[in-house]
Amino acid sequence: MSAKWSVKTQLPVHYTVFESFDLFNPENNALLFDGQNSSLQSLRRVVVVDDYVERLHGERIHQYFQYHEIEYRLLSLSVSEDNKSMDTVFQVVEELNAFEVSRRSEPVIAIGGGVLMDIVGLAANLFRRGIPYIRVPTTLLGVVDAAIGAKTAVNFQGHKNRIGTFYPPLAAILDTTLLQTLSDRQISNGIAEILKIALVKDAELFELLEKHGAAMLSSKCQNPEAVPIIRRSVQGMLEDLESNLWEEKLERLVDYGHTFCPTLELKAVPKLLHGEAVAVDMAISVMLAYQRSLVTYQEVERVYNFMRSVRLPLLHPICTPELLYAALQSTTKHRNGLQRFPLTVGIGAAQFFHDITYEEIKTAVKAIAQLEPDAARQTSPDTLLNGGDLCTQVSSL
Ligand code: NAD
Repeated sequence: MSAKWSVKTQLPVHYTVFESFDLFNPENNALLFDGQNSSLQSLRRVVVVDDYVERLHGERIHQYFQYHEIEYRLLSLSVSEDNKSMDTVFQVVEELNAFEVSRRSEPVIAIGGGVLMDIVGLAANLFRRGIPYIRVPTTLLGVVDAAIGAKTAVNFQGHKNRIGTFYPPLAAILDTTLLQTLSDRQISNGIAEILKIALVKDAELFELLEKHGAAMLSSKCQNPEAVPIIRRSVQGMLEDLESNLWEEKLERLVDYGHTFCPTLELKAVPKLLHGEAVAVDMAISVMLAYQRSLVTYQEVERVYNFMRSVRLPLLHPICTPELLYAALQSTTKHRNGLQRFPLTVGIGAAQFFHDITYEEIKTAVKAIAQLEPDAARQTSPDTLLNGGDLCTQVSSL
């Protein structure tokens, strides 16, 4: 009889997400965080910065590390979805290697949006089987989503995030003052992910968004209400992530808005940003929920009015029922053969469904196309011209 061993072990995970404002002010020590309670173990750092952010803040970042007498190397990377690839990961790894970063005590600092942080996270994970890293998000989507979870990824052969790992950072440091230079579109993009949390689990957050969302957009998150809204969203997101960090449970509330979205993001022309694709997905999901009497039409209107107020799209010309159904089938495969389609029940709660049909999707798209004719302008003539039944249905609500 041959021998057989079974190895079972556990990997404790502990990382910190904390707010700190005016991070590049030399008086602020937050960026020197090394996970220890004692003072800095090692005064060496590799800092990887999105090149646009480097143009905005590079001088202050250099001054910061010089002031603290840190031996550092700053790598400014020009990144986008197009070069979110292993080649760029290797570029970071080359820097880590050249700087001879220690395995434990010299956390790499990633300063940028979700793309930059995903690349650096993967590089930190692969280099010497994992060195610590810190995420400093500079986009709203980064603050409420990409910086605070455990995932890293790059695109591969036209597939989004096809190569990736679970590798939590040592810390994510959230400084909303960095968001003031974002474009309106990037702010709306991030608000979509906050709306997601509100719709599936936090009715009060939705009310706060209704009241202050437009001001968040116009002030680039510098209005006093932005911080509590962002805080609440981060809290809601972390609660869900913490209980299912490795995504063993495939029914995830945070997947709301992420059923059609991967296909929309990939195929939409003109292009949709991630949050915009999530918004279109959520608009369709809300209509599907209405069709199943899970939400009232007043609730549908509240959601759509809010989305309009922060300039999020409800539909895109690419949204034919055929494409959306194919997207659902692709996501079903990714969710191990069951749709696990989250639909809101009222505002602030959700349930999973496995039986969404092509006909339901078609009806939902027609309904939104009636409400948003401009967004649907290029939607298939069949969808628009034969929408009379729904026209009556919607206008009678
Ligand atoms: P992004 O990283 O592409 O940044 C958007 C744009 O904003 C870029 O052009 C960037 O140069 C610019 N920018 C960044 N900070 C700025 C600032 N302060 N002022 C002005 N411009 C600034 O996009 P994103 O929306 O931050 O991230 C999207 C990416 O995040 C996607 O690739 C997605 O897959 C990933 N993501 C990852 C996770 C995760 O859990 N790891 C979660 C959500 C999203």
